[in-house]
Amino acid sequence: ALLITDECINCDVCEPQCPNSAIYMGDEFYEINPDQCTECIGHHEEPQCVVVCPVECIEKDSAHPEDQAQLHAKYLRLVQA
Ligand code: SF4
Ligand code: SF4
Repeated sequence: ALLITDECINCDVCEPQCPNSAIYMGDEFYEINPDQCTECIGHHEEPQCVVVCPVECIEKDSAHPEDQAQLHAKYLRLVQA
């Protein structure tokens, strides 16, 4: 999964771009639900939130490291849910 850092300026552009509805407004800035973030695997070549973020505040979530196979398995779980 990816993680939004406290450098987020709450510009709102990433939230509607997420194919998994993983992005939501947190207490102070936008956050990503790691259970729903496939790093865009299954939907797009690149993480769409990273593509649109104007301040480059989205990075790999070191608390939720996943390889391509795990991310793809998550994608399949989400589309079947
Ligand atoms: Fe959503 Fe993709 Fe960003 Fe994950 S990487 S939060 S799935 S847009
Ligand atoms: Fe925050 Fe970047 Fe999303 Fe804008 S695009 S709300 S700065 S994470």
